[in-house]
Amino acid sequence: MTRCYNFCAGPAALPVPVLETARDDMLEWHGKGMSLMEMSHRSAEFIGVAERAEATLRELLGISDDYAVLFLQGGASTQFAAVPLNLLAEGASADYVNTGQWSKKAIAEARRFGRINVVASSEDTRFSTIPPRDTWSTDPNAAYLHYTPNETIGGVEFHWIPETGAPLVADMSSTILSRPLDVSRFGMIYAGAQKNIGPAGLTLVIVRRDLLGHSQPHCPTMLDWKTAAENDSMYNTPPTFAVYLAGLVFDWLKELGGLPAMAEINRRKAAKLYAAIDGSTFYANPVEVPSRSLMNVPFTLADSSLDKPFLEEAEARGLLNLKGHRSVGGMRASIYNAVPEEAVDALIAFMQDFEQRKG
Ligand code: PMP
Repeated sequence: MTRCYNFCAGPAALPVPVLETARDDMLEWHGKGMSLMEMSHRSAEFIGVAERAEATLRELLGISDDYAVLFLQGGASTQFAAVPLNLLAEGASADYVNTGQWSKKAIAEARRFGRINVVASSEDTRFSTIPPRDTWSTDPNAAYLHYTPNETIGGVEFHWIPETGAPLVADMSSTILSRPLDVSRFGMIYAGAQKNIGPAGLTLVIVRRDLLGHSQPHCPTMLDWKTAAENDSMYNTPPTFAVYLAGLVFDWLKELGGLPAMAEINRRKAAKLYAAIDGSTFYANPVEVPSRSLMNVPFTLADSSLDKPFLEEAEARGLLNLKGHRSVGGMRASIYNAVPEEAVDALIAFMQDFEQRKG
């Protein structure tokens, strides 16, 4: 068996020890005569797995009892609709910050359900910056302020939490669990699992309990966070295997030393990759230095006719999924928690070798 280095933006690499445990549990889970996937979600076994996953996540992120933790489905994209459906009362408006493709999608979807004001945008810099907080035209009466702390496509990340009077709502799909987070600053956080949490099919929602119970009258039952909270995320059949695997990822993170330890590794990985890019005239990253993402590192080659050979040679060396998003082209290395530091070292060595031969 050869495992390659996987730089995919999502579904992304998973930690090898997690996959090994899942393999060992596959045919029979803990002597129960069947895999976890085959058990009722109402069984004591699965409920135990889900409760443990939630408890470990609460511990990792320091989530207080003031917040509900929900394991849902539909991806982050479903939350683009669920956020206004749960938080935006008739006649009210919400503020959104536009820092890239995912912000734009969240804004477009929210507009279907209420009045949305875009209070800041970095579109004029082709999403290579983050508008400074003092330039945002926030509404003191907004129902909430939504932003995207890490833009997965553009590779732009907030390294600060916006001050706001309104509940702060964040799409943390591609940054959650990459470093410690002060959850108490947020009204609601959501994330698709398929980057730093686990396999696709699970969506994490963390929501302050006082924000539950205010959904729009036509909010579908399945999108109402209150329903999910009251039913321990089991109003319908949850994605049991994905919850189990996420629990294993949380255990792995805890064993590693939790989020402070993970953050240190992530900072090291990103720093060396950006240094390699900045130290060359052959590679370039368009994002302003203070807003560069620790998780998604887009870069271009000086001569785009070399993109194809770059990708082919990278693949032959076991460096996979480096192609940039179809909307922007170039390359993108996603270096989530489960991408080991050796993968980044191997990528840098390949980049330098390729430049020497072709640059
Ligand atoms: N938001 C961000 C920041 C993302 O990176 C993604 C997926 N790449 C999404 C939303 C959409 O997530 P999903 O596919 O889970 O709906």
